[in-house]
Amino acid sequence: MSANMHPRDLASAHVRAIAPYQPGKPISELAREMGLAEAEIVKLASNENPLGIGPRARAAAAAALDTLALYPDGNGYVLKSALARQLGVDVDGIVLGNGSNDVLELVARAFLGPGTSAVYAQHAFAVYPLATLAVGAVGIEAPARDFGHDLAAMRAVVRGDTRVVFIANPNNPTGTLLSATDLREFIADLPEHVLVVLDEAYGEYLHTDLRAPSLDWLERFPNLVLTRTFSKAYGLAGLRVGYALAAPDVADLLNRVRQPFNVNSVALAAATAALEDRVFLAESRHVNDLGMAQLCAGFDALGLDFIPSFGNFVCVRVGRADDVYRALLARGVIVRPVGNYGLPEHLRVSIGLPEQNARLLDALKAVLARA
Ligand code: PMP
Repeated sequence: MSANMHPRDLASAHVRAIAPYQPGKPISELAREMGLAEAEIVKLASNENPLGIGPRARAAAAAALDTLALYPDGNGYVLKSALARQLGVDVDGIVLGNGSNDVLELVARAFLGPGTSAVYAQHAFAVYPLATLAVGAVGIEAPARDFGHDLAAMRAVVRGDTRVVFIANPNNPTGTLLSATDLREFIADLPEHVLVVLDEAYGEYLHTDLRAPSLDWLERFPNLVLTRTFSKAYGLAGLRVGYALAAPDVADLLNRVRQPFNVNSVALAAATAALEDRVFLAESRHVNDLGMAQLCAGFDALGLDFIPSFGNFVCVRVGRADDVYRALLARGVIVRPVGNYGLPEHLRVSIGLPEQNARLLDALKAVLARA
């Protein structure tokens, strides 16, 4: 290697062009930086479940520790059977992932590559461009309307080489929701050479009247892939487990590019138990509804605009968001700046327990009064 050559120059140009994902700041990091006790810090930055792990999932995870010397079941038979039973889908149409993030990458690996393109919306979840660019495909961003997906604009940018359209419903970070009618029409109108990934990571938080009958659509649309996760309403973000639902031949392709043991045994056990724990799920929803009302009322009282959200988070407009973000950190409150999503005046606040939401609102009030 010449003196001027560095190993980073050897990476593919499309990999070098990727802007890294920016995760929420971990509590331990802020504690170190600010000399704060971890218990004093409130993190409302990663759309995690403020109730923690549910009791049945915890017990199942603990029991699974006994088998940690063994590889997990690479086919995830027990979890997939439970999902098939509960959702009324074909077990061969299920693909398990190390978080739903993994499944999004499997779609990119199986269906995208040099010479193809993927479409996603402005302000949509950051992993869509990441997964697209990582495999050398071209990412096409369609402009948003009212901070949400503009399906007509997305349809208009679909090209002959487009293989995947990513849609988050509700979307992260804006929390916007598309109607079932509009979504169905969009999917029906897409050319056959395009797969639709409908990312329902926050779907469990939706009241039933707002949920799209997306499971029913799987039979009608062989190019539909649904993605879901145990990281949010099920409270298992740290274990990393999510899944895709698709036509069996599409699922088969995704499984071919999947690591053989991509979901660990503790995650498999905990997710299976979480799926059966309707009480915890209902409680997660209830806490989210209460917190959403509390935060929205608090933002109103502070005279702050926010984007009406259907997820477990809200984007609030604070003006100089980076300054406000840092001032909140100094007060031990972690939220998420969303400048990298094209929203430089907003902060995304995940919904916490009532006392955590109150801490955030108090800190925000104090910070804005000084601005
Ligand atoms: N989709 C959306 C819209 C998300 O917000 C997230 C989490 N930030 C994910 C997918 C991925 O979550 P996980 O990998 O934990 O399932």
